[in-house]
Amino acid sequence: MSEKIQEADFPATGPLAAPPAGTLLLSNVRPYGEGDPINVLIEDGVITDLDAAADTPADEQVEGNEGVLLPGLVDMHVHLREPGREDTETIATGSAAAAKGGFTAVFTMANTSPVMDQPVIAEGVWLKGQNSNLCDIHPVGSITKALAGKELTEFGMMASSEAKVRMFSDDGKCVADPLLMRRAIEYARGMDVLLAQHCEEPRLTEGAVAHEGEMAAKLGLRGWPRAAEESIVARDALLARDYGNRIHICHASTEGTVELLKWAKGQGIPMSAEVTPHHLILTDERLATYDGVNRVNPPLREERDTLALRQALLDGTIDVVATDHAPHGSEDKCVEFEHAKPGMLGLETSLAIIADTFVKSGLADWRWVAKVMSERPAEITRLPGHGRPLAVGEPANLCVVDPGQTWTAHGAEMASKAENTPFEGMEFSAKVSTTILRGRVTCHEGVPAPSAA
Ligand SMILES: [Zn+2]
Repeated sequence: MSEKIQEADFPATGPLAAPPAGTLLLSNVRPYGEGDPINVLIEDGVITDLDAAADTPADEQVEGNEGVLLPGLVDMHVHLREPGREDTETIATGSAAAAKGGFTAVFTMANTSPVMDQPVIAEGVWLKGQNSNLCDIHPVGSITKALAGKELTEFGMMASSEAKVRMFSDDGKCVADPLLMRRAIEYARGMDVLLAQHCEEPRLTEGAVAHEGEMAAKLGLRGWPRAAEESIVARDALLARDYGNRIHICHASTEGTVELLKWAKGQGIPMSAEVTPHHLILTDERLATYDGVNRVNPPLREERDTLALRQALLDGTIDVVATDHAPHGSEDKCVEFEHAKPGMLGLETSLAIIADTFVKSGLADWRWVAKVMSERPAEITRLPGHGRPLAVGEPANLCVVDPGQTWTAHGAEMASKAENTPFEGMEFSAKVSTTILRGRVTCHEGVPAPSAA
């Protein structure tokens, strides 16, 4: 029984909102886009029949329109801005954006205000997520107090708090001090928590706003060299090798990082890595307009980087897709490029980008999408209940994709409170139609359910 395996292998999550009592019939869906459409019966939040008759009586019925059924997506890297910048995103609006994007669990980074460096702040975020009941919102604890890079936080206290923090990161900043990073790895070891590194050697990126290359030179922008990322990836690979705890690399952006990951994995070093949709398909050519919407950290790089990242995601050198969803208000984005805050929205466009780039083009199938956007992220974060096989007895964390629905991305139409999408006006050919969190329909026909909070 799957629950038993999960109990033995995975640390618990915090207290979950109760699933709706009763039955839900999800009709006419094709698991992983394969075979004839089936009807899925869900009882009290659990899948109980994958071959239900079309006329099975149920309290609620949702039409799948022969869409592709996948496990609910899991995003290891988002910024939901609460507490501190609720003017740009809240747990409730971020949860709605996640549900619309097909996600049933996301990890929200620690660079809030105040910083998530104590149990009480993480617990507040966890509980708000459960109250909204549109997506499981897992707070990421910071590695250092106030993200100051000086003193480690209490991993143990946050891991054992009601939020059950299972990932720690100073994302937005790098843990630049190698000795402190060594201590963090030693501390994390044995507690089964994951450290996620934002790889950026700060001495190499002072004042940098764009990828260091021809484009930045032409535009007169200060360059962010590949070596600033790669030197930290290499350093952390060696620390992970010698001090034996796994390290996750946030938003890999360069060809050299791919080479280093290949080497580290070949050595058996416990490392994993993510790539964002924007680093897979956008390059620094976008900067020619000086539009602040294209400023992001790490910066958009060159075509050879995007090609290497795509290949690495296909061959498993990079494990997962993560959005780095980073909402900003127009006062922080519609300004001179150098003054724009780095970051882009991602939750509502990621599935479409991955589907168009890899499935529509014939490079991969829907099982692979399930792997890189749901199964592997849940495995890496040791998250029970998500990224599970489509099987009887599993929690009904699901999404349905319409693989033939053409749509155009518009920031103003997004569920997110912010509008800073670099994909404005882009046309995509697959869309999430339905998302289900433990038997509760959190989005249907592209419309998120109202937040329960
Ligand atoms: Zn980052």
